[in-house]
Amino acid sequence: MFNLKNWPFLRQIFMVKDDYKQRGLRNKLVKKLRLKGIQDERVLEAVGRVPRHAFFDDALLLHAYEDKAFPIGEGQTISQPYTVAFQTEKLAVKAGDKVLEIGTGSGYQACVLLEMGANVYTIEYNRVLFERTRAFLPKLGYNPYFAFGDGSKGMPSKAPFDKILVTAGAPVVPDDLIKQLKEGGTLVIPVGDRERQKMVRIIIKNGKPVRDEFDNFAFVPLLGDQGWK
Ligand code: SAH
Repeated sequence: MFNLKNWPFLRQIFMVKDDYKQRGLRNKLVKKLRLKGIQDERVLEAVGRVPRHAFFDDALLLHAYEDKAFPIGEGQTISQPYTVAFQTEKLAVKAGDKVLEIGTGSGYQACVLLEMGANVYTIEYNRVLFERTRAFLPKLGYNPYFAFGDGSKGMPSKAPFDKILVTAGAPVVPDDLIKQLKEGGTLVIPVGDRERQKMVRIIIKNGKPVRDEFDNFAFVPLLGDQGWK
């Protein structure tokens, strides 16, 4: 039988409020991200607008504006705000960019991309998370294009993209993702082993992928054809 108790996200729909307390905590989080090295004011403003507490179950509400990752069910996590801000900054999103996000998860990162004015396409491999987030995000006023499937192969039906963001740790940079970028396009993807990955950025310059590497992170594994088996 359907019971709202089992659907914390649905329950939130009836409870999302964004008062001075939440906004105050969010401003503090933004200050912390700035101290940790995030410089792009547009990224910080976007994080400052998304009501992260709406993604949390009652019992975890107090943790919504800590700079930490949290479980969202199905063995998956809502990424740490610093990680979201770091990836978004490296992606250099401009208003109007067509952006593919791989690993919808809670949908929080997609909201940040939407707040930056991007046209967001997001794909999730876990059916339960896909259904849950597709139902939940529009209730907060966020409407990316949702797809269910293996994002390790990108989203050929909607390619090419200005930007592609992978929010799960990959063993390799999938060729398909590079092929789905426009000239001048950017891919940001954590690459490494199952426990630890280096943030990799690839920009297509004169038809060729140019690679940069940044800090280490710990993402949940990218599954699927080009992911972990
Ligand atoms: N961006 C999310 C964090 C996602 S955690 C957020 O803001 O909350 C990583 C997500 O990637 C998980 O939901 C996982 O199910 C998903 N995932 C793993 N492999 C995938 C694949 N091959 N295609 C699409 N999604 C995948």
